[in-house]
This record gives sequence, C-alpha cells and structure tokens, in this order.
Amino acid sequence: MRAMILDQPGQPLTLRDWPVPEPHGRQVQLQVLACAVCRTDLHVVDGELPNPKLPLVLGHEIVGRVTLVGEQASLLSIGQRVGVPWLGWADGECAFCRAGQENLCPNARFTGYTLDGGYAEYTVADERYCVPIPEQYSDPEAAPLLCAGLIGYRSLTKTGDAKRLGIYGFGAAAHIIAQVARYQGRSVYAFTRRGDQQAQQFARGLGAVWAGASEERPPEELDAAIIFAPVGALVPAALAAVRKGGVVVCGGIHMSDIPSFPYELLWGERSVCSVANLTRQDAAEFMAIAPRVPVHTTTQPFPLQQANEALNQLRGGKLQGAAVLLPM
Ligand SMILES: [Zn+2]
Ligand SMILES: [Zn+2]
Repeated sequence: MRAMILDQPGQPLTLRDWPVPEPHGRQVQLQVLACAVCRTDLHVVDGELPNPKLPLVLGHEIVGRVTLVGEQASLLSIGQRVGVPWLGWADGECAFCRAGQENLCPNARFTGYTLDGGYAEYTVADERYCVPIPEQYSDPEAAPLLCAGLIGYRSLTKTGDAKRLGIYGFGAAAHIIAQVARYQGRSVYAFTRRGDQQAQQFARGLGAVWAGASEERPPEELDAAIIFAPVGALVPAALAAVRKGGVVVCGGIHMSDIPSFPYELLWGERSVCSVANLTRQDAAEFMAIAPRVPVHTTTQPFPLQQANEALNQLRGGKLQGAAVLLPM
C-alpha cells in the first residue's frame, strides 16, 4: 500500500510503499476512506510533542471500512464503516481508567503518534476504541468529527452551562463546536487572528453573534472561553474577557508559553483548565448529538500524496474548516 511517512520531526512526509498492517487480537484492519488533518499532526511533524513512534504514519481522524478482523475481534465485522480517533488504547486497569478518566491513562496509546494512523491506504485499530459514524455523513464530512469534533465537544462540556461563549482560533474544532453551542442555546463570540476577515465571516456564517480579533474585548463579558489556537498569550487575553467565576478552557495538546499576567485577571474565582485527549464516553455522546444539531463540516479535500501541502496550509491559517486526505 501507499503511505505518507514521517521519518524525523522537522522533515516533510514522504510517499512510500509500506506493508499493509495485519490485525492481531482485538484489532481490525481498515481500508482508509478519509483521514482529516489535525493541528496535533503539525505539532508532531514540528517536533513539539515528545517521543513519537518513528517512522510514523500520522493521522487520527480516520474513517475506514473493516477489511479483516483479528482472531479475538468480536464487536466489528468485515464491511462495517467506523471511525478511529486519537485514543487508540488504554490499559483499563490504572486508577485513571477505573475512575472513567481513560484520557489520562499513563499507558495510553495514541493513533498517529505512538501508533500508526491514517495517512495511508490501510490501517489497523483496536475494535474497542473505534467509534460509530452516523450514517448521514459522507466519509470526508465525518472525518473531522473524530478529533476536531470530539476534543471540541469535551472542551465545550468543561464550560458548563456558559451562555456567552468565546472561542479563540476559528479552525476545524471551532467550526464544529460553534454549531453545537448554538444548538444548545449559547451565544458564540469568535476570536481570530487580527485582520482575518475570511475567518470572521466564516464564524458569523456559522451563527457567531460577534467576531473580531483576539486582542479585542468582546461587546459583553463572556461566561467562558475555549482556546483552540496554540498561542499561550491568549490565556490572559481570554481571562480578561471572562466574567467572575468564568472558566478558560485550553483545548489544544500544545501551546506556546503563557506569558506572566497580573493576578487580578484570575481573581474573582476565574479558572483555567486544559483538555487532554478524549474518552470513549465523549465519543458516544458527541456522535449522538452531532446528527441532531445537525453539525455540518466544511472540508477541503486533498489526495493522500498532498499531505505536506495540507499541513502547510493548516500552518499558514489558510484552511477554512478541515483538510481531509482521500487515499483513493
Ligand atoms: Zn487531533
Ligand atoms: Zn489506564
């Protein structure tokens, strides 16, 4: 099969012939139908996340069709369409796993990071961590739901019942979660790079009541904010925009350093928290709510061999919605 391979962080991916992975135990083999490109992939390519498997097949927003099942697989069968998200495996035994926090499992394995992922024609995944895909979504439409949607949803739940919700960084996750927030009766305030009229217009088109630059103060105090952009300076900016008792949720896996800021910004029982990974419970909840909203995803298709181009466009902030690789 063909796969886009990362040999070393800092280098572009290369298209190569690669052995088709065989499923063992509870794994299934999947033909990749679509795989979305996530900012986390960029962090791995740029060497900002430690100790990736190398050489590595990136990609953790995989829509695939089961082509083979491992000798112990019992949940999935050949021909089924499923999704493969970032959480590829957890031990099920540690204190975190037993407390329903498998996202924090110290032995967890992650698709497209410590396990090979979906920038390829075939992949394997543990059937217990595969996610059902609602039928009405096409393969490319469904792919961004698997991380932008799931991590976005977990970030959204951390804001409780906040009515006025700020979203910093209006990319793949934001464009999905803005739709869910609006469906839940919240008002979305979208913050983008200064002068990014296109992103601001995109946000308004998805129902944001206000869109402006990240440095700006919104017209009203916010009840909560989610930061999807990997920019630490947005933490004090968001705290300054949030009311007393409000929360600022950092939704990314990596962020530049947070600059020091006056305690006054945190005072008043404001809080800052991060979202790490996802649980299967998040996936079940989000995949139930997405078709009810219904969430529509905006995608830009790329052939598999143009993965570097897709990553570069993401880096440059040139994408609207999510880039999706199509191996066929
Ligand atoms: Zn991701
Ligand atoms: Zn565990």
